[in-house]
Amino acid sequence: MNSGDELYSLINRLYPICRSITGDGVRESLQIIGEYIPIQVHEVKSGTKVFDWTVPEEWNIYDAFIKNSRGDKIIDFKELNLHVLNYSIPVDEKIGLEKLKEHLFTDPQHPEWVPYRTSYHNKNWGFCMSHNQFTGLNDEVYEVKIDSVLKPGSLTYGEYLIKGKTDLEVLFTCHICHPSLCDDNLSGISIAARLARELSNMKLKYSYRFLFIPGTIGSITWLSLNQDKVNNIRYGLVLTLLGDESKFHYKKSRRGNSEIDRIVIRLLKDKYPDSEFIEFYPYGYDERQFCSPAFNLPVGRLSRSNHGEFPEYHTSADNLAFIAPKYLSESYELLLAIVDEIESGEKYLSLNPECEPQLGKRGLFKKIGGQSETKDFQMALLWILNLSDGEHSLKDISEQSCLGSSIIYAAKDALVDAGLLIKM
Ligand code: ZN
Repeated sequence: MNSGDELYSLINRLYPICRSITGDGVRESLQIIGEYIPIQVHEVKSGTKVFDWTVPEEWNIYDAFIKNSRGDKIIDFKELNLHVLNYSIPVDEKIGLEKLKEHLFTDPQHPEWVPYRTSYHNKNWGFCMSHNQFTGLNDEVYEVKIDSVLKPGSLTYGEYLIKGKTDLEVLFTCHICHPSLCDDNLSGISIAARLARELSNMKLKYSYRFLFIPGTIGSITWLSLNQDKVNNIRYGLVLTLLGDESKFHYKKSRRGNSEIDRIVIRLLKDKYPDSEFIEFYPYGYDERQFCSPAFNLPVGRLSRSNHGEFPEYHTSADNLAFIAPKYLSESYELLLAIVDEIESGEKYLSLNPECEPQLGKRGLFKKIGGQSETKDFQMALLWILNLSDGEHSLKDISEQSCLGSSIIYAAKDALVDAGLLIKM
């Protein structure tokens, strides 16, 4: 099976499961991902303090429906799990239309689609339906039932670490808290699982950590419980919205010019010149937490469509027809290229970072200049000495200095020979 079809078929399996920020839907999804990679499943007890937040009670749902006065089911959770306001508390009563309307959610701008709505932090119950169905409701008595349980349990997340030659890490993270939504959640999950399996068979310089976590509370929980690990993270990407036909959007890390930013931007400019680059802003997906000021990790976000900026976002139209194997495969191949750049990036460390070393006494500073080639060579020496700080590859230096790679390599050799530079 080619990568696109395989990615799509995993999404197809995960699509019907009702996921949330906690509960059995997440566990079932992680079990399926576990068929691809030996994922470690963590359970964090409800009530655990994680920075300014608390791990919530666990939510599970078994059935939900609305019946009209004739006893016909007009809304059935078992047909589409988006019909239930995610995290609804249980309800079992008969109510009139006016009262029912207080618990109905629609998207009037897209009257045929069912919106996806949640109520994690306010105890409430509700149903989501198409606006067309909503406007056609008769004034009668309805039977509403939500068979759910909200009680102390745990928050579940998956983690997989591939050990490389060094402990320095590359982080790939995706959210696993959305129910039947394909691009927003399942595309990232599927691509992360496939990528992890692929990397697990390779000899790697860096270690690779994959997180399958509920959005927001999951990344806050992981960061809170793993503060000793964050200093090793050298590169990171949040993966989501990777299966639709849109051009690529890359949201830069808060640092704005970290290595992962430079690598992704360089590759996208080369392979997909219509890509768009977005400066960091404190909203969106889990990059908000990884890039919060205390951590400020080099974590960007790779997507095709941009967060919240496409009509299908958080609606029933983000379904199996909204994504396609071709686009999933392109995104996956791009990630392989990003890994290749990370792994192959040649980096050197200046052994004389306190001001410029004296080049003249080492015969590296030509007394008689003027020729442009000589000038370029000397500029290459200075660029390499300045940027060989552990954060810049030779490619980065070539790009930033606008000097060709042959002159950069020649200057690098001269600096190594002079004992001023060492390979990392
Ligand atoms: Zn979302």
